[in-house]
Amino acid sequence: MNQEERIVSPAPAPEDLFDAALRPKLLSQYIGQEQLKENLNIAIAAAKGRGECLDHTLFHGFPGLGKTTLAYVIANEMGAGIRVTSGPVIERPGDLAAILTSLQEGDVLFIDEIHRLNHVVEEILYPAMEDFELDLVIGHGPGARSVKMSLPRFTLVGATTRTGLLTPPLRDRFGMALRLDFYAPEELVAIVHRSAGLLGVPLDDAGALEIGRRSRGTPRIANRLLRRLRDFAEVKAQGRITGQVADAALNMLGIDQLGFDEMDRRILLALIDKFRGGPIGLETLATMVCEEKTTLEDVYEPFLIQIGFLVRTPRGRMVTRAAYQHFGRSFAPDCREATGGPGLFADTPPLAPAKDRQS
Ligand code: ADP
Repeated sequence: MNQEERIVSPAPAPEDLFDAALRPKLLSQYIGQEQLKENLNIAIAAAKGRGECLDHTLFHGFPGLGKTTLAYVIANEMGAGIRVTSGPVIERPGDLAAILTSLQEGDVLFIDEIHRLNHVVEEILYPAMEDFELDLVIGHGPGARSVKMSLPRFTLVGATTRTGLLTPPLRDRFGMALRLDFYAPEELVAIVHRSAGLLGVPLDDAGALEIGRRSRGTPRIANRLLRRLRDFAEVKAQGRITGQVADAALNMLGIDQLGFDEMDRRILLALIDKFRGGPIGLETLATMVCEEKTTLEDVYEPFLIQIGFLVRTPRGRMVTRAAYQHFGRSFAPDCREATGGPGLFADTPPLAPAKDRQS
């Protein structure tokens, strides 16, 4: 499924363009991620006290949790300018050199999807991060010459959904690496209340709770649902989003009580109904639901794992008892309960072929 068309996709969609207006500008306006904020607050205060730039900072976490927002927050808190780019956009060393040489003293350079930088470009970044020096080779063959120049001091803020894909030399050059977690429903309630205030949308507590609960722990999804519900409420409920209006609209959009959409249901029900809960390999699951393996891994599975409906085991994907309960399926006695961790079902004999089993 095209992620841009999926309402509960954590990836940015064209309709999220207006989200820039909803971004918190200062740390005090940024809701949730308390531990991360405390660490960042101390680091920012210390850097400002010394009159220095903030250390290079790496944010990692799933899409839509607020990494880009934090880069802007850092720039605002430091009173600095910001340049925003992303790993796949910087194709050649010259592209990065152009960006680095245009920075002003103290600026923040934000590189989204930093794990997707190619290695030639990455090597230019090392001396830039460490010594604020640009080390570029111009030309090819015997005529090639090396150019060195000093750069203004800057803070590199990198964001990644996959720290595992970052090369160790790059990871080591960040002074701070901070992880973003999924948000609790009450934090999402606070986020949608704030966004509703900024958009001038009448929203009551029950309406906010309904959105918060069904936003898959992700502010980007919460804001998107709020915008969809605003349209629904304007047409059907004199513009006011109450609990009842939110419930009706979300049901109409095919988003259930836990924020699952059609695809989540297909994944879980394929496992339950066709594979007796698993374990099955990622490849088989991807074929069953007609989706790319990487999309399953990066987009669908993290939330299903986070809420404890799916587990990745050494032998494949399995659903848990909670998933059976959610879909009102009985947890059959010969179904092995998924608890995660190594050594799963070590003492469970394989099932006999169906023809040999008693019905
Ligand atoms: P990421 O870069 O991790 O994909 P973004 O920083 O673009 O995510 O956040 C997506 C949207 O969610 C932003 O437009 C912002 O309005 C909202 N958002 C993210 N984190 C918060 C937060 N902690 N408080 C309020 N709104 C947030």
